[in-house]
Amino acid sequence: MIQELQLRLLPRETVNEQALKVVVSRETGYSIPHIQAVRVLKRSIDARQRTIYINIKLRVFIDEEPTEPEYPSIDYKDVSDCQSVVVVGAGPGGLFAALRLIELGLRPIVIERGKNVRDRKRDIALISREQRVDSESNYSFGEGGAGAYSDGKLYTRSKKRGSVDKILQVFCQFGASTSILADAHPHIGTDKLPRVIENMRNQIIQSGGEVHFETRMDALIIRNEEVIGVETNVGKSFYGPVILATGHSARDVYRYLSEQAIPIEAKGIAVGVRLEHPQKLIDQIQYHNPEGRGQYLPAAEYSFVTQVRGRGVYSFCMCPGGFVVPAASGPRQLVVNGMSPSNRGSRWANSGMVVEIRPEDYTEIIQQHSSWNQINPESPLALMHLQELLEEECWKNGEMKQTAPAQRMADFIRNKQSMTLPESSYTPGLTSSMLGTWIPDFIASRLRDGFQYFGKISKGFMTNEALMIAMETRTSSPVRILRDKDSFQHITKKGLFPCGEGAGYAGGIVSAAIDGERCAEGVANLLFGSIPV
Ligand SMILES: Cc1cc2nc3c(=O)[nH]c(=O)nc-3n(C[C@H](O)[C@H](O)[C@H](O)COP(=O)(O)OP(=O)(O)OC[C@H]3O[C@@H](n4cnc5c(N)ncnc54)[C@H](O)[C@@H]3O)c2cc1C
Repeated sequence: MIQELQLRLLPRETVNEQALKVVVSRETGYSIPHIQAVRVLKRSIDARQRTIYINIKLRVFIDEEPTEPEYPSIDYKDVSDCQSVVVVGAGPGGLFAALRLIELGLRPIVIERGKNVRDRKRDIALISREQRVDSESNYSFGEGGAGAYSDGKLYTRSKKRGSVDKILQVFCQFGASTSILADAHPHIGTDKLPRVIENMRNQIIQSGGEVHFETRMDALIIRNEEVIGVETNVGKSFYGPVILATGHSARDVYRYLSEQAIPIEAKGIAVGVRLEHPQKLIDQIQYHNPEGRGQYLPAAEYSFVTQVRGRGVYSFCMCPGGFVVPAASGPRQLVVNGMSPSNRGSRWANSGMVVEIRPEDYTEIIQQHSSWNQINPESPLALMHLQELLEEECWKNGEMKQTAPAQRMADFIRNKQSMTLPESSYTPGLTSSMLGTWIPDFIASRLRDGFQYFGKISKGFMTNEALMIAMETRTSSPVRILRDKDSFQHITKKGLFPCGEGAGYAGGIVSAAIDGERCAEGVANLLFGSIPV
């Protein structure tokens, strides 16, 4: 017999299958030997009250073994003899596009400017050790894209449950824990992601596709307004319709498109800092317990949002039990971001704390900095230019290395230099800086007001133990590459499918993956006139 139960349990009652069998026995009256298996279908934490509960939905197998797999898996066929499609970029957008192309009977040729996910790890280590950023292999560029060395958070605001479930199932098929199918806030963790990404690559190759690392697309091949392939920096060209999934840090790609008069437009961004607290403090606040999270609860998360003078100020990409990382992708840049391992076990909690910037804010912000040159505010590259200015200013204030300018949160509010800085997870090092003196007032003043509000609604959050680390500038793409909403093709270039975060149609791993699948279907529609089922 199979039963489904919806329960509200204490954390220690949900800690493993054995503990759940005890609960199921209590709820159903069947003794434990009759309970063959317990599957968790949904799990979320309710931390609104002093007593923390886990809301859990279970499927229970009594006197019978499960016969159905936990999720449907895809049978990827051999596409060696099928028509080729070029996928530029091996981030979540590109990888999921490639896998979906195989499902649809097309042969992906993936080209990726960075290195494979293992070799890339060595270059990432050098950023902290030698303060050296390799422009082609870093936290943004390389196999797995910006999502590889991240927290691997897999939640999204997408309302399309079917599409989200499919992405999570594919992650499981390639090695992610099936807990991501049940958790309200699923995440994989940076220690587990590389293996999953390698498995995806192996599948692409095994099915007859190609994956080329250290191969950068430098130009599109265009005939009669149709994109028919790409030229690369290694002298090789690849032919087929092109899915362009190059992420939000490929500024050379935006410049190239602009120079070629391929329509793009400026898109709003959000910029600010990474804010780091001791994780214990966040646990105490969120779980209302001076002892912290105890034995059975995960590192606590938070999420804040408010409006200050007409612009959103909000927390972004929170990494419980994580690390702040140097995420620049070139020289004269300092950019920070966050990642966590699967156990979210570090002593720190960090999140981006950012202010919404709209294209029309460009001029006002630039004018607040006397030494900054201004480009045409109508240029589609205006907000990318702003990102570049902020990142360079940050680098200059960080001793022209990857040492990040930082200030204690309460000192920032009081406009006071931090004489000491607390211990931090950011390994390239920190330098004390009066952030409000060089971050444009448009951003700094809103951060200040936002923090004061967050401190009011969450007692203990505003503290001098919290550290602001500058700057977080790459929360989303500053440019949108214009495409038709039905065919997913570029509005003027047939055969070009702008895809994922860099094209301005996704924000995060799952939404980029969903967009990758959508673009693959767009290509199938172009080539076959419909999407094969
Ligand atoms: C440190 C960090 C932590 C993050 N944490 C999370 C998280 O926990 N959860 C979440 O949802 N999101 C997270 N994000 C954001 C997430 O990684 C991105 O939203 C997502 O990766 C976007 O996917 P994409 O495929 O569109 O682009 P990307 O992942 O940026 O991939 C683009 C790829 O294209 C390649 N490329 C660029 N130009 C070229 C070219 N000319 N030729 C060939 N290849 C090229 C790049 O090298 C890169 O590999 C994080 C980002 C960072 C940097």
